[in-house]
Amino acid sequence: MSYTALYRKWRPTTFEDVKGQDPIVTTLKNQIETGRIGHAYLFCGTRGTGKTTVAKIFARAVNCEHPENGSPCGKCASCQAIAREASMNVSEIDAASNNGVDNIRDLREEIKYSPTEGKYRVYIIDEVHMLSGSAFNALLKTLEEPPSYVIFILATTEPNKIPITVLSRCQRYDFRRAPLETIYDRLREMTDAEGVPAEEKALKFIARKGDGSFRDAISLLDQCIAFHAGKELTFDRVLDSLGAVNTEMFSHLFRNAVAGEALACLKVVEEITERGRDLSQFASDFVWYLRNMMLVKAADGEEDSLEMSAEDLKTLKEEEPLAEMDTLMRYIRLFSDLLNQMRYAVNKRVLLEMAIIRLCRPEMEKDLESVLQRLDRVEAKIEKGVVFRQEAGGALAKDAEEEAGPKEERVVELEPAVYADYQAIMSNWRKMLRDLGGTMQPALASCQVEPMENSTMRLCFTEKGKYFIVNRPEKLQEMEKYVAEHFGKSIHFETALMHGGEQEKTTYVSREEAAEKILMPIETEE
Ligand SMILES: [Zn+2]
Repeated sequence: MSYTALYRKWRPTTFEDVKGQDPIVTTLKNQIETGRIGHAYLFCGTRGTGKTTVAKIFARAVNCEHPENGSPCGKCASCQAIAREASMNVSEIDAASNNGVDNIRDLREEIKYSPTEGKYRVYIIDEVHMLSGSAFNALLKTLEEPPSYVIFILATTEPNKIPITVLSRCQRYDFRRAPLETIYDRLREMTDAEGVPAEEKALKFIARKGDGSFRDAISLLDQCIAFHAGKELTFDRVLDSLGAVNTEMFSHLFRNAVAGEALACLKVVEEITERGRDLSQFASDFVWYLRNMMLVKAADGEEDSLEMSAEDLKTLKEEEPLAEMDTLMRYIRLFSDLLNQMRYAVNKRVLLEMAIIRLCRPEMEKDLESVLQRLDRVEAKIEKGVVFRQEAGGALAKDAEEEAGPKEERVVELEPAVYADYQAIMSNWRKMLRDLGGTMQPALASCQVEPMENSTMRLCFTEKGKYFIVNRPEKLQEMEKYVAEHFGKSIHFETALMHGGEQEKTTYVSREEAAEKILMPIETEE
């Protein structure tokens, strides 16, 4: 039994069956019904959007003896002859392989003869942008004075390569990429008719892989059905037969790349290799994933217009804030370059691993985007509360406390005199704040008091607002005056603003207390 590809079997034969190109279909149907038919049409659009299909329906309709609502009837002699490809009235020319001036000259000879049956001779020239310059000139002469019975339908994916002189002679129609839902509906229609049970998620995935092209989506469906003949088409089986990867894996890769976790990223490669997935496909799908994330970022709350499932959109919205736009673009560029390299490479895995390490290590690269990403990371760390201190050599060094988990309480033993000052202040701290009142009370309530040398107490703040309230000479003098009056001590106050949220918890003790707390780690203040 011969097998007819779904795409051929399900190729629309009437305008009603054409999905996702409503404005074009309506205009062409009206032309048939009113008999106002042009002589040159230009159909533009990406592959698989239905240009040739619509051209063929149109060619049948103009010759049909009894068109129904502008569509060919499919029953008359003309319709049947064209369907059998036995009619001289419809010619399809592939300009990619017939692009010379001689091909067009032959065509001009041919059109001198009017049709023996039917009304029109229709020439569908596919990939018309491939014609040579002189071929275009020859075609132009025909388009300027076409015989009344000739219709040209020029189809192209690249209208920008068509000479303006030719463009100006044609009615132009731009075919849109079909929305995901429209492709999904079509796939559903097919699987229902073919008696193939299919999960919604599975068909949605195939529709998305089609990327706006009916032809691509239907070919993929064909491939999946053939691969799992007689079984239900589940999401996992589709992933399996298309060698594709679940988006969870991209999510995993992305998050780890942003975090700079190269090892975790490389595990993803290991996993897909073990599963026998195609690495180029993986890289290409990851670019698509990042591209969608870039759109979500750019959409800024207007995501409804994006064609993606609610589920994917949710994940992308969660992840999008993890990286700056520049970083996303760097990732996309890196992986696009990778795809080019992979095309001819023997060891794709090594290339993929190299690219992934580059993702994780912007410091390996010298371009501006990478430098900005490194800066982002430093800023993020500072925000999280990692304290940087200036080393003797001038280099920034991370505080040893970073990533040490929950901080242990630090116990510092004070000199007796310093301890006495500290004790005096802290035992009356709350009362002092109440007495000072005003904005000082709430501002000081959360600060940490650190005893320093020379009878100085440093007030450490983590909040800028509170720091600025207290860090004024008159306020500090007010405190010093209070301490002198109430505790009979001459203490100097200074302030400090700490970066980051968490302060180190320190307990200051006297020598005696230090001896009691022998089990705790003890540092002696110098
Ligand atoms: Zn007919």
